This record gives sequence, C-alpha cells and structure tokens, in this order.
Amino acid sequence: MAEDVETTIRGPQAYSLAARALQLMQEAQVWPTALNYELWLHYARQPDGKLGRAIQDLLEFKTPITEAVSEQLAADHLPRGGLQDQIKDASEALGRELAAVSQAVEAAQRNQAAYGKTLEGASQGLTAGAEAPAFKALVDTLAAATKKVQSHSKTLEQRLAATTTEVDVLRNRLEEARRDATTDGLTQLSNRKSFDEHFERLRGLSQNGRGPLTLALLDIDHFKKFNDTWGHQTGDQVLRFVASVLARHGKSPRFAARYGGEEFAMLFAGENPVQVMSALETIREEIAGRVLKRRSTNEDLGAVTISMGVAVLRTGEKCASLTERADAALYSSKRNGRNRVSNAESLPAAA
Ligand code: GH3
Ligand code: MG
Ligand code: MG
Repeated sequence: MAEDVETTIRGPQAYSLAARALQLMQEAQVWPTALNYELWLHYARQPDGKLGRAIQDLLEFKTPITEAVSEQLAADHLPRGGLQDQIKDASEALGRELAAVSQAVEAAQRNQAAYGKTLEGASQGLTAGAEAPAFKALVDTLAAATKKVQSHSKTLEQRLAATTTEVDVLRNRLEEARRDATTDGLTQLSNRKSFDEHFERLRGLSQNGRGPLTLALLDIDHFKKFNDTWGHQTGDQVLRFVASVLARHGKSPRFAARYGGEEFAMLFAGENPVQVMSALETIREEIAGRVLKRRSTNEDLGAVTISMGVAVLRTGEKCASLTERADAALYSSKRNGRNRVSNAESLPAAA
C-alpha cells in the first residue's frame, strides 16, 4: 500500500502537513476537535482523495460541519472501517467472479447438449439414407453447429483466463488486507491482536502435549525519559530498532509481537528453559550493546536497555494467568535494577 497518513505524520513532512490541516480547518471554520483534525489531516494530505472530495463538496455547498457530519465523514472514509471494507469488497468481487464463471459453464453445458442433439438428428438423417442435396444440407447444419460450439468454448476459455487473473488479484488484495490487520504499522512486527491469537493457539497445542510454551514480556527501560530527552520521533526509531532485533530472534516457530507502547512479547514453543533464557540474554545484550545514533543529527544517544519477565505455561493454565506471572517477573526485573531477565519460576511464591 502507498504511504498513508500514519506514515506521513512520522516523516519529514509531518509538521508542514499538520500546519496545513490546521490552516484548512480555520478557513473552513470548523472546530479543531480531535476528530476534525484527523479528518482534515487526510484532506490536507490528499485533497482529491475520496474523503478530500467529500469535504470539498460539503464546503462548496456551505453545509455546516456539525459533529454529526464529522462522525459521518469518519464512518464513511477513515481507515478504521477501511480494512473491513477492503476485505468485504474483495470477497464480494470474488463472489461475483465465481458466479459469472458458473454461468459461463452452465451456458457451455447447454451448448454442448444442443450440439449433441444436432449430431443425433444428423445421424438419424444419415441412417435413413439421404439424397445428395439433403446430405449437403445435413453437412452444412453440422458445420454451423460445430462452429458455434467452437466459438462458445473459445469464449469460455477467455472468460476462465480472465477470471483466473482477477481471482489472483483479489487473493493478493485479501492477503495484503490480512497482513495489514495483523501487523503493527510502526515496527512491522505482529500486533497485539495477532499475538493474542497465536498465544491462544500455541497454548492449546502445548496443553495437548506438543512441548513446553514460554512467554517472555519485554519492556524498554526508562523510555519515557528517552522520549522526553530526544523527542518522540527518535523514540520511534528506538522502537523500530528493538523490534528489528526481536524479529531476527523471533522467527518461526518463535513468535515476536509489539504488545503495546514500548512493550513487546515473545512466545517460544517447544524450547527448553535453557534455550529460551540463552536467546533472551542474547537479545538483551544485543540491544544494550548497541550505541544508538540519532538519524537526523547523528548525535550519540547512548544505549537503551530492556527488562524482561519469563514464565512457562503450567498444566491447565490460561493465557491470562501465564501473562500475569510473566508480568510479575518483568516487574521484578525492573525493581532489581532493570536491563535483566527474570524467570517467574525462580521468583519467591506469589502472595
Ligand atoms: P520503565 O523503565 O519503568 O519501564 O520506565 P518507562 O519510562 O519505560 O515506562 P513508562 O510506562 O512510564 O513510560 C513508557 C513510555 O513509552 C511513555 C510513552 O511516551 C512511551 N511510548 C509508548 N508508545 C510509544 C510510541 O509509539 N512511540 C514513542 N516514541 N514512545 C512511546
Ligand atoms: Mg511499559
Ligand atoms: Mg518501559
């Protein structure tokens, strides 16, 4: 998908776009509510997009932009519903294609049946012993019928080829929509929703005897201070860096996700505690050992560290309880000085 507002407002054009949105809002005399700002951001970025044109229409007709009008614009055009709509559109288009193909196949069957009848008639005519002129008429009929069937099957062939292409396009679009729905936009790691699904599925497998399941929760240390010192954009850069390390160490059958703000989660299926701890230590050291540079100015940012909490799924345990125990271990890492991994199994029994 092309660069969207979410990307632009984290890029070099961010503030000029924001300023333009505010200016347009003022010109249109709409209140600078959060929703209007979001709408006008899209408008400012793409005045000729669907939302942009809808706003232009309203302004042209001097329609007062009430809250209700804004809500309607948002419901119709903001990306929230967009993904669902994309999936819906693609599914509907797929349905239409398949219906068209099935019609074409039915038509072909009818033609074949008619051709069969023609042949049958011809063979009866032949056995009755036809005279030359009648014989010629018979051959003409057959030739015409054959031509008709040939042309129909050619049409069907072309129709099928076009459909195959169309179905491929739709399949790609659905795949893209599915990816968007499961990926975190900032870091390109799996998002929370996708994590929750994997977690539940892997828990089921582990409970059914497919080996141990370990959950690790990872949280960047003193990240608020980092943001306050260097700014949110540089903070985002750090989030992407941490995510890239996790992605590299979190390849399948492991699973890494952005869990929330500056928190990440990893799942280890079928690995023993020694393997898991060693992987997490490697990740911890890799992140802490990297001297970060601010991309815009090349300033030295020092290093960031992360704290982690680990817990292994117990028999019959639910995801929420495992998460709670990993979180307690994470908290213990924070309390004991950060930049460390704590294992729930070695914590003093929970109160
Ligand atoms: P601790 O070591 O105890 O975890 O301290 P902390 O400052 O990391 O924790 P706290 O929960 O107080 O602050 C988390 C910060 O993470 C606050 C918020 O500004 C920042 N944050 C959350 N999401 C994002 C994001 O998407 N981008 C940026 N740049 N910062 C984010
Ligand atoms: Mg946190
Ligand atoms: Mg933190």
